[in-house]
Amino acid sequence: MFKKILIANRGEIAVRIIRACREMGIQTVAVYSQADADALHTQLADEAICIGPANSADSYLNMERILSATTATKAEAIHPGFGFLSENSKFVEMCEKCKIAFIGPSAEIIHRMGNKSEARATMMDAGVPVVPGTKEPVYDPKEGKKIADEMGYPVIVKASSGGGGKGMRIVEKSEDFETNFLIAQRESINAFADDTMYIEKYIVSPRHVEFQILADKHGNVVHLGERDCSIQRNHQKVIEESPCSVISKELRQKMGEVAIRAAKAVGYESAGTIEFLLDKNGDFYFMEMNTRIQVEHPVTEMVTGLDLIQEQIRIAEGENLSVKQENIRVTGHAIECRINAENPSKNFRPCPGVIENIHLPGGKGVRIDTAIYNGYKIPSNYDSMILKLIVHDKDRFRAINKMQCALGELVIEGVDTNIDFQFDILGNNRFISGDINTHFIQDEYNL
Ligand code: ADP
Repeated sequence: MFKKILIANRGEIAVRIIRACREMGIQTVAVYSQADADALHTQLADEAICIGPANSADSYLNMERILSATTATKAEAIHPGFGFLSENSKFVEMCEKCKIAFIGPSAEIIHRMGNKSEARATMMDAGVPVVPGTKEPVYDPKEGKKIADEMGYPVIVKASSGGGGKGMRIVEKSEDFETNFLIAQRESINAFADDTMYIEKYIVSPRHVEFQILADKHGNVVHLGERDCSIQRNHQKVIEESPCSVISKELRQKMGEVAIRAAKAVGYESAGTIEFLLDKNGDFYFMEMNTRIQVEHPVTEMVTGLDLIQEQIRIAEGENLSVKQENIRVTGHAIECRINAENPSKNFRPCPGVIENIHLPGGKGVRIDTAIYNGYKIPSNYDSMILKLIVHDKDRFRAINKMQCALGELVIEGVDTNIDFQFDILGNNRFISGDINTHFIQDEYNL
């Protein structure tokens, strides 16, 4: 059993992990940058070590410093959270060499699933339905155009190393292909230093439905149902919910089985997510696998009653899964709104600054995951997500009502936020009726 874990992250997820460790009687070590000396994770952990300047490359992405901090504090394991080094196979290899347990899958799995075109090929071989498209990587726009012309438009060009909506371009017609391919490829070279692309058929108005899975070191794999993450802006999730309101029991079972098959095909271990696109006919296609804990994991925790961070830690310790598939029940409905420090009327420009006043809602079925507090200064160097508001109630209608009440009560002063924007979505008739897809925000708000 681990006695001490180092958390290689910051913000609300670092705080979330510290709390999970504390409940398990595990000591925690926070690492922090110079910009985060007063951050909540720095204050809450049992020990805290400064690992460098504000710039992520010199601190939260600095592998040597994080490993030195782990050795110096005699922590046995590292929890990477999400973002930063969580899907960096080189870092996991270094942990393996230093005999430090990485709370997540092996370097090999991360490497295989991190390359999206390779992951597609692996899934095709395992009989998992993937979005129709290329199996081999594409580098050349002319060659790509030939393939796209045969596939028929619209198509979506994607970077193999892509993530966070970067390196992706929808192409509506043949004459636009080469320009868009080159733009996406350039973005990929700049963001990921990789020019490998692939092409998929663009599924019109799908839902983004992802399955949470848990897998231990002994070959046991379960799924914890799905999350509907269709409310997106620029391919980035804004609201997530569980369960998905249009999935029948039969379809859930079918998709869940496919998700488990996908995880088993790579010998997966730890918590992971299999992302699918679900079209209007109920056909679903594998899109990618995320080999880490997700931002939206709380909605699954609310409907299943499980603690996914604690499960990840127990799996890394070599324990068997604490649940069997037949004992997993999805109860009620949960919704999460991501609250960002940004200005919706200025194209959602990030708005770092000082929190002058904060009032948090509460009550039965209301959960808040955050690391901000009165007087806290949000640094400009990191992600603009500052709080996750999660609600749980008997059914979707009640959960929406509860979220409206909670958003109405939430006050954050000193910085601009998207609270009003979220409130507006929750009151939108199409959203309330469950008539949503990945184009919802674009269609309703012209964004
Ligand atoms: P990233 O890893 O950058 O987040 P994803 O491959 O997960 O990129 O795609 C992000 C979002 O882009 C999806 O949730 C969906 O809304 C949209 N998308 C991706 N591929 C397709 C596709 N083939 N057809 C339609 N929409 C897509």
